[in-house]
Amino acid sequence: MPLSLQNTLSRSMETFSSLEAGHVRVYTCGPTVYNRVHIGNLRTFVFEDVLCRVFRWLGYRTTQVMNLTDIDDKTIRGAVAEGLSLRDFTAKHIATFFEDLATLGIAPAAVYPRATDHIEEMVAIVRKLEERGHAYESDGSVWFRIASFPGYGRLSRVDPTEMKRGARVADDEYEKEDVRDFALWKGVKEGEPESATWTTSLGRGRPGWHLECSAMSMKYLGETLDIHTGAVDNIFPHHENEIAQSEGATGKPFVRTWMHAEHLVVDGEKMSKSKGNFFTLPDLLARGAAPRTIRYLLLSVPYRQKLNFTFDSLAAAASALERLESLDRRLAERAGSPGGGDAAPAFVSRLAEGLASIRAGFEDDLNTAAALGALFSTVKETNADLEAGRLTPADAATARAFLRRVDEVLGVLPKEERVSLEAAVEAKIEARQAARKRRDFAAADSIRDELLAAGIVLEDTPQGVRWKRKP
Ligand code: AMP
Ligand code: ZN
Repeated sequence: MPLSLQNTLSRSMETFSSLEAGHVRVYTCGPTVYNRVHIGNLRTFVFEDVLCRVFRWLGYRTTQVMNLTDIDDKTIRGAVAEGLSLRDFTAKHIATFFEDLATLGIAPAAVYPRATDHIEEMVAIVRKLEERGHAYESDGSVWFRIASFPGYGRLSRVDPTEMKRGARVADDEYEKEDVRDFALWKGVKEGEPESATWTTSLGRGRPGWHLECSAMSMKYLGETLDIHTGAVDNIFPHHENEIAQSEGATGKPFVRTWMHAEHLVVDGEKMSKSKGNFFTLPDLLARGAAPRTIRYLLLSVPYRQKLNFTFDSLAAAASALERLESLDRRLAERAGSPGGGDAAPAFVSRLAEGLASIRAGFEDDLNTAAALGALFSTVKETNADLEAGRLTPADAATARAFLRRVDEVLGVLPKEERVSLEAAVEAKIEARQAARKRRDFAAADSIRDELLAAGIVLEDTPQGVRWKRKP
């Protein structure tokens, strides 16, 4: 089955094809780095991680770019409040953002460009827009002329003629020709710190938020991208404006597939900083939730459905994950027990059927719930086989490989290194015990020293040999 994705632009499911064979270019709107992201933001970032992992799982190469919005009203306010330069202020929040991505096992994007490192690229787009009649300067700021772009509203299905002309948004926007127009470049205002303004050929000021994403996506991914993602609140005005700017400047289609994640909600309301109904990742870790459980919860609900966050759902995620891990551990034991031969063909073909169903789930617009459903029915059958003693060590090893293959997308099982480290240490300990038995103390000591050099300390206790990492 081919991969189908729901395209926000057409509001329909489309068979995916990449512009360049075998290579997918994905732009994902990143965080505004003025505080710690909450798990709602992280749900969107996990969705984008799953998207890229599915592509790689299917054999594509991916280039994912995620911007860091390090200049806007909130970052400026934060920097001023803490008496820091904009760069120093945002650096702290970029660091915690990367920490959170790593904690959740989100595979790194190819580039994390910062808006403030791309001012020149943004100015160049504004110049092109001016040349093509889409932009005008007024009182030190530059605006996008919505009336000049007939396609405006195509993505969000907002009718520009219905955008209220009377609704003047803020006093400082009276200089626009038309209230619907949006800022490309904001002329410097009283009281704005030195570290948050740039002197360019457009004058002294700073870029508008939408312009950042047009500039950085096209710089790293080309003028036409395969996929652009965000959460649903990004559709209007952010992504609508990105299309107007990018297509207005290049005359080419900007994005082939737009994908938007639904929100993580609490009691039916969007989790957000301003409402105060949020948890950060450290909040949940402090309550004892394991990172892999949080990841599991965030990806278990298909991205186009709202995810209602509750502690009950977190507990349910923990027990689902435990079922998976416990099977994996018992399979590892069985796989390590003596007995040769190949896995039974009937068993192998059942795993292959399970994998095909899981794949069908992923290919159906990343239907993670369907994929997990298929996974757990294979888990249930395999558990039954294992308990009934029907699995040979080779069967168990094949079942573990199946779990590992699925986990390339899910990323929720413990890292293989740990499992193999444990196995390697146990094997060394056995070899040392064998050496002692045959009174070859030199060999036994040399094994102990070898482990010590690798940071593993052995303790001989009355219950047998124990090992720990060197403190
Ligand atoms: P921001 O830092 O506000 O620009 O948000 C970063 C990303 O998180 C954007 O793509 C937002 O649309 C997304 N986002 C914000 N709140 C939520 C939420 N409650 N659930 C899912 N995604 C969200
Ligand atoms: Zn963006």
